[in-house]
Formats: sequence, C-alpha cells, structure tokens
Amino acid sequence: MADYLICGGTSYVPEDGNTGAQMFASGEGLTYQDFIILPGFIDFTADEVDLTSALTKKISLKAPLVSSPMDTVTESEMAIAMALCGGIGIIHHNCNPDIQAQEVMKVKKYKHGFIRDPVCLTPDHRVSDVFEVKKRHGFGGIPITEDGKMGSRLMGIVTSRDIDFLEPNSDKLLSEIMTPFDDLVTAPAGVSLDKANEILQRSKKGKLPIINEHFELVALIARTDLKKSRNFPNASYDANNQLLVGAAIGTRETDKVRLQMLVHAGVDVVVLDSSQGNSIYQINLIRYIKSTYPELQIIGGNVVTAAQAKNLIDAGVDGLRVGMGAGSICITQEVMAVGRPQATAVYKVAEYARRFGVPVMADGGISSVGHIIKALSLGASTVMMGSMLAGTSEAPGEYFFSNGVRLKKYRGMGSLEAMECKGNSGGAADRYFHGEGDTIKVAQGVSGSIVDKGSILRFLPYLVSGIQHGCQDIGSKSCSMLRSMMYAGELKFEKRTLSAQREGNVHSLYNFEKRLY
Ligand code: IMP
Repeated sequence: MADYLICGGTSYVPEDGNTGAQMFASGEGLTYQDFIILPGFIDFTADEVDLTSALTKKISLKAPLVSSPMDTVTESEMAIAMALCGGIGIIHHNCNPDIQAQEVMKVKKYKHGFIRDPVCLTPDHRVSDVFEVKKRHGFGGIPITEDGKMGSRLMGIVTSRDIDFLEPNSDKLLSEIMTPFDDLVTAPAGVSLDKANEILQRSKKGKLPIINEHFELVALIARTDLKKSRNFPNASYDANNQLLVGAAIGTRETDKVRLQMLVHAGVDVVVLDSSQGNSIYQINLIRYIKSTYPELQIIGGNVVTAAQAKNLIDAGVDGLRVGMGAGSICITQEVMAVGRPQATAVYKVAEYARRFGVPVMADGGISSVGHIIKALSLGASTVMMGSMLAGTSEAPGEYFFSNGVRLKKYRGMGSLEAMECKGNSGGAADRYFHGEGDTIKVAQGVSGSIVDKGSILRFLPYLVSGIQHGCQDIGSKSCSMLRSMMYAGELKFEKRTLSAQREGNVHSLYNFEKRLY
C-alpha cells in the first residue's frame, strides 16, 4: 500500500509474479501442474492468434501439434489427419521397414477427396460378393477391374442401383449387371479436385473413377465424400503440395537401410527415437544422415538437460525432442531413477537450444490444452502427444468394449507387450537399448486402454482454438511472441501450492459433467 502512496497516480505497478528464469532458479523440478501463467492485456480476438511454429530449422507448422511415433498412435491415417489440421504425424517404427515406408508413402500420396484404395472386384465375381462388401464396408459403388485390384484396367462399375432388386445370395456374374466401361463417366489422372467435382456434378453419378492413359484405375471420387469434404486451410504441405510427414527410426546400423527406404518414400523429417538421446550411437547417426541426406531434417532426443542437448546440437540436429519420464504410460522415472519433471526439462533445454536456432518439441505429459499452452510458454515450439490422440478413430487398432465403455488400446513403446511384438524387425525395444538377443527386457512403459474420443478431425480444431484462447488471455498474438515475452521477462508465472491446484480444478460440486467441445 505504501508503494502506491509514494509513487502516486496509476503509472506505477508493483512487480508481480515471477519470470521464467526466476521460477526455475530454485532448482526444484516442476511439472505443468506446479505453476500457472498470469494473465496479460487483450487487444485482439482469439482467432487472430497466429500459431505458426517451427518444428525444425527448416520446417514450420501452422499448428504446433505433433503425434507421437507409437504403434497405438501414429500410422498413415493419423499422420494424414494431423497434417490436414496443420500439425504433423510421426510414423512409428515398431514394424518392418517396408511397412513403415508404405505408411509414409500413403501420406505423401494422399490427396484430399480422392480414394486411393477402394475395394475392387472382377467381372467374374458374383452379386453375392457385392452384398458381402456392402455388409463389411457399408457402401455399394464398386469399381470392377481386370484383376480386382487398384491399378489394373477398369472394366465397369457396380452401384447399389444395379443390385437393388437382386437377392443377396444371387450368383449372377458382375459382368452381366455392371455398367460397362464404355458407358462410364471417368476423369483423367492428375485432375484437380475442383475439376473432378464439376464432372461429378454434371454427370449426376455417385462415383467418378480416375484412370490413367492405359485405362487403369488410379483413384475414385465419391459424391458422398465430396458433400462431406471440408476445407483444411492450415494443412501442412511441402513444396510439391504434398502433406508433410515424419517417421521415427532407431540408432542401429540396420536403421540406415530403414532410413533409405523412408527417404525414397518421401519422408520430410526423421525423429531419432531413443529414450535417452545423448549417446554416441545417436551422435554418429546424426553425422551420417547429415552427410548422406543433407536435405533431410532430423529431430534428436530425447533430452532433458542442456548438456545432453549440446551434444546433439553439435552433431547437427535440426530440432530436439524433450522429455524423459513424463509420458502417461511411462515408468522410466520409477524403474531407472532417471528423468526430469517436464516443465523444468522444457524450459532448460529450450533456453539453451534457442541460442543455436534449434526448436524444441515438448514430448509427453500433455493431458489438456492448458498443458500445451504451458509447454509453449516455457520455450517449446511444438508439443508431441500420445495419450491425447490415442483412442481416436484415426489411431491404429480396433475399438473394444469393457464394462460398456468403448475403448482402444494405448501402450508405451517400452512396455513388454510393444517390445516383444512378434513378426517384425521394428524398433520399440531399440528405443530402450535392448539388443535382439536380450533375454531379460526391462520395461519402461505400461500397456492399457483409453476411451473412444471420436475423430481427430473434430478434436484438433478444439485444441487449436483452445491454444488461441490461452494466448489471448496471456496477451500474446502468436506462438513466437509468447516465447519472446517469456525470454524478455514480460510473461509472469506463479508456482501453485497443492491447495492452489485443488482450487484451480472443479470443486465443491455434488456431481458434474465435463464436456470440452
Ligand atoms: P503421453 O502424451 O503423455 O501419453 O506421452 C507420450 C510420450 O511418452 C511419447 O511421445 C514418448 O516420448 C513417451 N513414451 C512412449 N512409450 C513410452 C514408454 O514405454 N516408456 C516411457 N515413455 C514412453
């Protein structure tokens, strides 16, 4: 009170809260839960907030969101959805290299609105086969090709209308009932989605087959998809207008072969997937990649200290992945006694790496939009998520029910289940430095399940909008401004006692429903 009287008027505002440097000076390790950000001044709307952020030195994203290379999180379907919404997916490597490369290729080849792998049949299939496909996949427009596969000569098409009055067990040949090639409206390979849309509308047909100069089927467009199709103005594209995609690899000699296949498939960035990245194996691999594929962006890690980061930055990484022990499925800190609380790890590594222009990705422990905002406010440029994205329809795996709840599997890559995954030469075990002949594996993760979250295409826009609103409350018009405010000491933080954390959560209610979007 005395301060106000001495200074007079309203021009003087007493110091309030701590800068990032002050908050982390005490030496205690902090988690996202342990602190809060003080609000700033708002003179802009939330949708003006620009979330453009660097993933690596050369790749920037419109949304700072990355899906984790875990076999229950990221394969092509997740990576496509992430990229469409402005982020990026990193394809996991717990599979044979050719399968991983195929997944990368599916993302690079993806064209919004074009179906690249429709179910096809041959003219010798029967009407009963069409009913069977309809039962399993829920649609009735099936291209008929010479050998029943994509990429072979298009012979005709069978739609619901052709089978409407036929018995489901009819053994009539499709050649007798299909609309033959000569009566079909088709479009040439390379047609734009807009043009294809126009042709479909003019033709009044339900399906438009896309064929190459040899009359081979290369894609299909469905009227129903077009009606559903949305625009993705923030999608992450490369210079050729193909979606961006990343892939994880290990640090063994054999990973060089995997890497070569990924590069041929068109991968934009590789993530060197080690739980403790400060190793001679990773440093050697970074040097090898930089000399063999100088254009390829590399994210090294994981690291949680400036000393670890230094070695990887010196070796030439283009980005760092930060986190050890914060993941929701992780038991590393319990079993190995090594790691670091995530907020401190992000702050310390980012504060060091920024001097070299190396962006930091905060990996693990994100369980709300607030955690994303906190990670970004501590210097991270992007966040990597596992549990937040697992359980969505784009995550690999089938849904199952337990006690009436619809669930999907979510497991740590260091869980015994993932490391012992048979039938592949993949790398879950490599991430934790287990050799192929190791008889005793030391698990660093668990295997569990997670509730159905619906489609990521609805969830990601919620995350993006949530981050924008958080930045607005802070008074920051962009992710880069958030970081500069923090380093300039303008962004103020406060530690939260346990009772402050309790107060900050829902309390004193008999019951409540938590619907987020
Ligand atoms: P989440 O977003 O909190 O679920 O954490 C995901 C992150 O946990 C991943 O991106 C990895 O860095 C890390 N992780 C994945 N599997 C394991 C594991 O088995 N043990 C420890 N950490 C893991």
